[in-house]
Amino acid sequence: MNQSEALFKRACKTIPGGVNSPVRAGKSVEMTPPFIADASGAVIRDVEGNAYIDYVGSWGPMILGHAHPAVTAAIQERLGKGTSYGAPTELEVIMAETIVDMVPAIEMVRMVNSGTEAAMSAIRLARGVTGRKMIVKFDGCYHGHADSLLVSAGSGLATLGIPGSPGVPDDLAKHTLSLPFNDTEGLNAAFDRYGHEIACIIVEPVPANMGVIVPDITFLQRLREITTAFGAILIFDEVISGFRVAPGGAQERCGIHPDLTCLGKIIGGGLPVGAYGGKREIMLRMAPEGDVYQAGTLSGNPLAMAAGIATLTTLRQMDPYQQLEKMGDTLFSGLKTLAEKAGIPLTVNRVGSMGSIFFAETPVSDFKTAKASDAGRFKQYYKAMRARGIYLAPSPFEAAFISTAHTEELIEKTLRAAAGAFEEMSR
Ligand SMILES: *Cc1c(COP(=O)(O)O)cnc(C)c1O
Repeated sequence: MNQSEALFKRACKTIPGGVNSPVRAGKSVEMTPPFIADASGAVIRDVEGNAYIDYVGSWGPMILGHAHPAVTAAIQERLGKGTSYGAPTELEVIMAETIVDMVPAIEMVRMVNSGTEAAMSAIRLARGVTGRKMIVKFDGCYHGHADSLLVSAGSGLATLGIPGSPGVPDDLAKHTLSLPFNDTEGLNAAFDRYGHEIACIIVEPVPANMGVIVPDITFLQRLREITTAFGAILIFDEVISGFRVAPGGAQERCGIHPDLTCLGKIIGGGLPVGAYGGKREIMLRMAPEGDVYQAGTLSGNPLAMAAGIATLTTLRQMDPYQQLEKMGDTLFSGLKTLAEKAGIPLTVNRVGSMGSIFFAETPVSDFKTAKASDAGRFKQYYKAMRARGIYLAPSPFEAAFISTAHTEELIEKTLRAAAGAFEEMSR
């Protein structure tokens, strides 16, 4: 037994499943997770000292790579000044101003501590504003683990094949309508039937929790039209896509403005942060200005704000999005070519610096087609890549993320590993 395996065994005695978030366990690929000692740039090292090229990036946040000097310095600069006050700081104002500046549809914003909280709070606000109960989401989209949102959800639930969760009362789940993504007819039909009871649509404008799905732009446009027509709130959950697919997220890329936006992951620079924001008149319904309640002891935490501001500021200075697009294309079109050479059917979905490969012969455009991909092949691929020093999410229903620290050389190295993996799989 190696050190990681020994630690995992020890962890399982005091932590359910040995992990603090289910997807980390690697159950679906039948491997124990490497326990991490440290990381820098695009490289992550386990307790054995094995180095991997990291495409998990902490599941999205680490767009600048690990231990980026600007982020590290910003945290260090704050450290000696106290770690939480429960009182406002200028850092929170700078953070809010930065977000409002960068994200097209956000005029006011409230900080929370996770993406889960952001989505949960945005839905409460949408229900508060509309006085309606029903919410619409899409199969395979993940919006955190709040009760109403665990219906046909992606990420760990998809990986582990869990349709919902015990502990979520039917009384609550019945207010959630989950529809197929990219299906405009299904959407229209649902609004024909329930339109005047629907408080909001919550959607990942670029879904990345059933693997990456490329949105049909007319579908996204229809979401905007139909919510406006029925007086419902449109919520873009940009916890992953925010600051990832463009400086202003998917809403900048597709030119559609939601009423509310959820953020997380990148805005924390690797510390626990989430946020939700949107139109001023809607956000002013939040307490203490308005009557919809939401609060947080550690919300707007100074260390988290420092890390987040440093991350966003660095992104604005670097403007790496063209470079990230190019790296994304090199990696994902490279994978497709290599798989073809090995005679392995592969579908590649990519938006900017995030993408997924599916072992499937036909396009993957929703949860149904994603689930139809070959999970056995994915397992082989995962194992073969890990043996070759490439660290991927242990599930076909997750994205691979490229950071600004991924050099052309590292991408080349990854493609060489993939060539070996595909060759091994085709034998
Ligand atoms: C990760 C994620 C969340 C949940 O964020 P946590 O910080 O894990 O609570 C919500 N929505 C989307 C789209 C996500 O990718």
